Amino acid sequence: MVEVDWNAVEAEALEHFQALLRFDTTNPPGDVAPATRYIAEILGREGIPSTVLEAAPGRTNLVARLSAGNPFDALMISAHLDVVAAEAERWAHPPFAGEIHDGYLWGRGAVDMKHMAVYGLMTLVLLRRLGVELRRDVVLAAIADEEAGMEYGSKWLAANHPGLIAGRWCLSEVGGFTLHVGGQRVYPIQRAEKGIVWLKMTTTGTPGHGSMPHRDNAVVKLSRALSRLAARSLKRHRNLPVQGMIAALARAAGFPLSVPLRLLSVPLVGDWVLDRLPGSDLTQVLFALLHDTACPTGLAAGQKENVIPSEASVVLDCRILPGSSLAELQSEIRQAVREDVKFEVIQASDPVVHEDDTPLFHVIRQVLSERDPGCHVVPSCSVGYTDGASYRKIGYTTYGFAPIRLPDDLVFSQLYHGHDERIPIEGFNWGLRTFFEVVHRFCA
Ligand SMILES: [Zn+2]
Repeated sequence: MVEVDWNAVEAEALEHFQALLRFDTTNPPGDVAPATRYIAEILGREGIPSTVLEAAPGRTNLVARLSAGNPFDALMISAHLDVVAAEAERWAHPPFAGEIHDGYLWGRGAVDMKHMAVYGLMTLVLLRRLGVELRRDVVLAAIADEEAGMEYGSKWLAANHPGLIAGRWCLSEVGGFTLHVGGQRVYPIQRAEKGIVWLKMTTTGTPGHGSMPHRDNAVVKLSRALSRLAARSLKRHRNLPVQGMIAALARAAGFPLSVPLRLLSVPLVGDWVLDRLPGSDLTQVLFALLHDTACPTGLAAGQKENVIPSEASVVLDCRILPGSSLAELQSEIRQAVREDVKFEVIQASDPVVHEDDTPLFHVIRQVLSERDPGCHVVPSCSVGYTDGASYRKIGYTTYGFAPIRLPDDLVFSQLYHGHDERIPIEGFNWGLRTFFEVVHRFCA
């Protein structure tokens, strides 16, 4: 490790972290401009130039690069600065005040993912201050709009400014936090994510007067279709990222938890086992990892009380596993609903899979095993989407690595988008050093 006065660096990092949490970057409206300005100013003070581009009002994207002369092999640190809404009245401490209580820093964005913006910022600052000679460019992308679909953030950058963010390796969310499984410490590192298909599904029928009900009612047909869809799960798709993840989890957990975990991957038995696993949070995630899913999130039909509409529609938020396709999903939904339905694709993006046998993944593994001896590193698949999907289109390999060491009474998934989002300061400091060490080892 390089010689760094970590006490001073941690104090400095905490100050920036508090400052970033105090900007209310709730999306919508997703105004991250003041937060971006703050980061640009800190970088500027260190003599690191940055480019700030506004994709839409308030949706600013900052890119800064420490150059080693080969932009196409760069490592990019990508952190979105926008956050999801917080219902302040349901929090124990205000979500945009950056307050510290009992060793925790509180605030919306504490783990999703302003901590990573600070890791990135401090990493560039330290590399510059220490005069580290780089063999790979190190890029910081502090961006907008991840929480609302990435339209004015990573997607926009990748489509309009690929040269600015040219590179090959990216570190972003979701991964690097401690999961306590069967008494073992596990660090999932995201290397795959499910694809998104937002579908509008419509049934049609015969219009008429509400005073004379008939059998060809579009609303009734849609209701029937939905209850059939809810009654059965869509197909399981065996795929490498998920099978590998579950096998690695089983190895980490050891006996006896390893037994049901291994059975999950067995066709026919898997769903039965899933229903009997303790802990509903875990069951939900595992179910979503093992199946394509179609979740109704919006309904529309009818204009007037006494008119039978000729159409009724539902919005389905579908997520498909690596190996699945849009066509397959649609045919499967058709089979499940047993009604004549029309589909309209609102938005779709393919599942993403990155190789996990790479020099960067090896460095992550190595550094984690040094920083937390005895831990288990598990290449993982995420059920949600991240900016990694946008960068994939311009050739990036992205891993979810925004490290935080968490005590065993703190469950990451409950902090993520939940009330009382907070981060243990000790775990943040551990994460900062771990992160810097990975970047340094990979790029210096
Ligand atoms: Zn996030």
